[in-house]
Amino acid sequence: MNSYIEKVIKEAEQKNTNQPEYIQAVKEVLTSLEPLINLNDKYEKNSILERMTEPERIIMFRVPWVDDNGKIQINRGFRVQYSSLIGPYKGGLRFHPSVNLSVMKFLGFEQIFKNALTGLPIGGAKGGSDFDPKGKSDNEVMRFCQSFMTELYRHIGQDVDVPAGDIGVGGREIGYLFGQYKRIRNAYEGGVLTGKSVCYGGSLARTEATGYGLLFYMREMLKQHNNSVNGKTVTISGSGNVAIYAAQKAFSMGAKVVAMSDSNGCIYDENGIDLDCIKEIKEVNRGRIKEYIECHPQAKYLEKTGTNSPIWSIKTDIALPCATQNELTLEDAKQLVANGVIAIGEGANMPTTMDAIEYFLNNNVLFAPAKAANAGGVATSAIEMSQNSMRYYYTFEEVEKKLDQIMTNIFKECKDAADEAGISGNYVAGANIAAFKKLADAMIAQGLV
Ligand code: NDP
Repeated sequence: MNSYIEKVIKEAEQKNTNQPEYIQAVKEVLTSLEPLINLNDKYEKNSILERMTEPERIIMFRVPWVDDNGKIQINRGFRVQYSSLIGPYKGGLRFHPSVNLSVMKFLGFEQIFKNALTGLPIGGAKGGSDFDPKGKSDNEVMRFCQSFMTELYRHIGQDVDVPAGDIGVGGREIGYLFGQYKRIRNAYEGGVLTGKSVCYGGSLARTEATGYGLLFYMREMLKQHNNSVNGKTVTISGSGNVAIYAAQKAFSMGAKVVAMSDSNGCIYDENGIDLDCIKEIKEVNRGRIKEYIECHPQAKYLEKTGTNSPIWSIKTDIALPCATQNELTLEDAKQLVANGVIAIGEGANMPTTMDAIEYFLNNNVLFAPAKAANAGGVATSAIEMSQNSMRYYYTFEEVEKKLDQIMTNIFKECKDAADEAGISGNYVAGANIAAFKKLADAMIAQGLV
């Protein structure tokens, strides 16, 4: 390995002990930059890697709230303002019990590269809390969101830092957060949060954007290899925002989605999933995916018993991990390859372990990496911000068209960067190199700040 990259990884490991997800993300990016770093010493001369692996600012805070039984609850809130190099800090909020500093930093780090790939003026950030919205009443979620924003408001703003949703933060949570922000600031600053409901300043097609964008990227990648989504069998982990709209677009491109999951298990319906039923269970009733069997007795439910999801043992042409980090391991990759998978598209952030990615690449499986393939969500958030600034709204078709163009362009950038580095077809490294170049140039141009 290049000695500069090796040194920076070592230092990052020493400085960030007990942060495995963060170190994993840093290693994945830095090791793939080798062809670029080898050729140009300006990166080492300007300490670009050291600067890029240190967030600009991290905010951690207490979030006190009262549950429906009158009991006091205390959660921890985070906002990692990773980089403002190319625009206001921008990235989602995650509410999930697994949230900790390592997870926040890995997500913030990934976000700066992803946002650079969109070509839009957005920096990178991530935030959230170890609060679990699952099983909480609407009033409890509202009280939590209000308390969370009572601290967060002083660190954000439409030109400063613009949060959005992520796991556990959907339209309901964004609404409560926005309401509290507006109340404290005594001003309607529409662009301070994205993922807002269309009835008070959100963008059409933002809900669909990440899932749709993933399929646009997959379409381009397959086209490059003389193939298409049409007629393929698809399995999708998760059944949240990204998974549902990835499934919707996959169906509309002529594919058949046969399996989806949640953290308890997966359903397999060989006739093709009834997506309206999934939406009813997840978006309306906030229920569990196994309820699908009640209306579709022909389908199978496979309970998750160990650490691996049963969904990856199902034969498929295209697999789309759209739930969470490290949900697809080497063992899963081996099963998928043995069953003839041709392409993987990461809808979730860092869902595939490093050894699994390597296995796919070594076995000629096309691999669409998260920071490129799931960038459609944040790109559409940036389009939401620009609509808020203009005080004017685009139609659904207009936003979708822009999203399609952005994803097509991102794929091209990944391809060109891989070709230039002499690693054609490796879109993992292509995405990292293309984004890194933009960020490094901006860093050098802005001086040591
Ligand atoms: P949602 O909360 O809408 O859905 C998350 C889904 O993943 C649920 O089905 C959930 O199941 C499952 N899941 C969550 N944690 C785990 C876990 N530890 N093990 C197994 N399954 C789990 O989130 P999103 O769809 O918004 O986000 C999914 C992924 O996509 C995340 O990695 C997120 O960072 C990424 N992403 C999201 C974007 C967006 O616009 N929303 C943009 C770019 C990336 P259960 O209900 O059982 O918890």
